Amino acid sequence: MITGWNLYRTTVRCKRPFAIATGTQDECHGLLVELKTSEGLSGWGEGVPLPYLTGETLTGCQAVLSELLLPALQGEDPRALQSLRVKLNRLAVNQPAARCALDLALIDLVCRLHNMPAWAWMGGSNRPVQTNYSIGLTTPQDAAEQARALVEQDFACIKLKIGQDPDLDLDRCRAVRGAIGPEVPLRVDANEGWTFLQAKRFLTRADSLDLQLIEQPVVRSDFEGLKRLRGLSSTPICADESLRGAQEARRLAEMGAVDVFNIKLMKCGGLLEARDIVAIARAHGIDLMVGGMVGESCVAVAAATALASAYAFEYADLDADLLLKANFGTGGAGHSPVGYRHLDDRAGWPVGELSPGSTTLLGSC
Ligand SMILES: [Mg+2]
Repeated sequence: MITGWNLYRTTVRCKRPFAIATGTQDECHGLLVELKTSEGLSGWGEGVPLPYLTGETLTGCQAVLSELLLPALQGEDPRALQSLRVKLNRLAVNQPAARCALDLALIDLVCRLHNMPAWAWMGGSNRPVQTNYSIGLTTPQDAAEQARALVEQDFACIKLKIGQDPDLDLDRCRAVRGAIGPEVPLRVDANEGWTFLQAKRFLTRADSLDLQLIEQPVVRSDFEGLKRLRGLSSTPICADESLRGAQEARRLAEMGAVDVFNIKLMKCGGLLEARDIVAIARAHGIDLMVGGMVGESCVAVAAATALASAYAFEYADLDADLLLKANFGTGGAGHSPVGYRHLDDRAGWPVGELSPGSTTLLGSC
């Protein structure tokens, strides 16, 4: 039974300021929840609100957790995951990062109760997952230099942020492709930066770049635009901002609008909803990518790794914590060899010791 909780604010810093089509991030804040049970267990969950993507602010997320959601879990049995999910959805349907923190904390408790790693609880294996490393929006020359350095460090897949002027974006891609050679997979992300015509201009000139996929070429609401671009380009189209939960997944799948879904736990509210999206994708022959957000640290990335590993996702963008100077805890998903993420046999998320400089206690019960 859940008998208490701690709520922390996390502060993490990027190795270098990370720019995408919608803004730049350097210092990032999130929330860390610790649920305590009558058996003496602690379950950990991380929520990273990002107004642009999840529609939440840090203070709003904090208030929803401490005033609504955490009190609602008091006295509950954490094993009742689906009914608790319904309860939390009713209280905070538009706060997916806040709900994600609790979804992950509840699943952590269930795994610890059963002494089972999360990948096994989901019925999968813990095969290592190959991740890309992301390069933010920058000049073609700088992007090429970063890409070359990453390949020298043994990262075998590059993700490049684009989504400004399509001709400059083509120059960025050509420079990176020239630097890494024809064999290294290159995926790109426009983060809604283009109009339909700009996206068409880019995609009809991109064939020789052999891009593995393109994320979100047009604004999130333009499902029809995604479908039309899919029809005129050989580059697989991936929905990121367009896809929040299972509802959008079903619409995108029924329309045949995209080739790939990018699932992020903060967008959909956690692993339970993510598994519903997985089922829709698999039923419609849509490939899967797991993503993360800048600011996510050891718990969120470990949970995303468990998901991608258990369900054999085709693509993984599991570099959020690698972009940071340090995690808020000493744990986290393994990163060995370079470019591969994995979890071991331990039950629950690998949090480790909390760093006092990165975690501030906001409230307790
Ligand atoms: Mg994206």
